[in-house]
Amino acid sequence: MKIHLQKAITIALTFLLFICFGGCSEKEKTPTESPPIIDADVTIDDTPETESEESEPEESEPEETEPPKPAHIGVERITLSKYSLTLLQGSNDMPIVTMHPTTATNKGEIWSSDNTDVATVNSIGKITAVGVGSCVVNVRSADNPNVFAEVKVTVTPYVAPKEPEVTYINGILIANKTYALPSTYNPGVDPVAKAALQNMFDAAKADGLNLFIRSGFRNYATQQRLYNNYVSRDGVAEADRYSARAGHSEHQTGLAFDINKADSSFEGSPEAIWLAANCHKYGFIIRYPAGKESITGYIYEPWHVRYLGIEVATDVYNSGLCLEEYLGITSVYQQ
Ligand SMILES: [Zn+2]
Repeated sequence: MKIHLQKAITIALTFLLFICFGGCSEKEKTPTESPPIIDADVTIDDTPETESEESEPEESEPEETEPPKPAHIGVERITLSKYSLTLLQGSNDMPIVTMHPTTATNKGEIWSSDNTDVATVNSIGKITAVGVGSCVVNVRSADNPNVFAEVKVTVTPYVAPKEPEVTYINGILIANKTYALPSTYNPGVDPVAKAALQNMFDAAKADGLNLFIRSGFRNYATQQRLYNNYVSRDGVAEADRYSARAGHSEHQTGLAFDINKADSSFEGSPEAIWLAANCHKYGFIIRYPAGKESITGYIYEPWHVRYLGIEVATDVYNSGLCLEEYLGITSVYQQ
């Protein structure tokens, strides 16, 4: 009995060991995989859906949650900021439209022109003058086509601003604030004036003075740039005292020169004194003399000489007048 029991214990232990080592190691090697779960609720329907089922419209019942539409407020009247327009050919304008009542639901505008050869209008009411004549531009309410307003449009011809003519007075080419030169007038330095200037420089040199050109011919564009720079620095009123607007500069004639130094430090220098006393002998005048600003339009410029030829220059010099006084002309901008 005792032996049997022992044997039984040994068998039991051996069995336990087997389970422990063998079973446990086996588990570690291959972790258990969860068996596929089959959801009893899912049923796979292999039957293809029929055409009629696919095209069947979705819920056609009206949604109970949709907010109620606000009451429609119709357009009753249209007013405009202007009812007649006179436009230069090529220009445009846009009257301001008010739909009444201002609480109108649909303020859409429908624009049209009864003659697009005269004026066209775009979808927001911008009227463009096309050709000379008259037409009516209409704006209609998109909400109520019976409601409209009209603009009478008159288109006048565009005339390009006229280029000034070159002005000679008593045979003297004039460029001052009253008399402008055309922008296309571009003669370069006058060769006769240049030769006279050289004679004068030679004479000054013989007297021990060194005269040279600081600034000579300037074309329209250069003058425009120069003047604009002065305006941005000093403002129009101040710039106009010492710099000419484009087309009004004597430097554009090709007959004017700034000598040595175009600023007030030149005043009273031996060169300035010599120039004032002798330039007429070579055909030049000091164009903007002292004390004549209200007549010439420019401050005293002892460095700026203008070629007139010896005869006229000497006559002007002897008269003691500035060129405007001598010719009886003005030097004032029109605007
Ligand atoms: Zn000058």
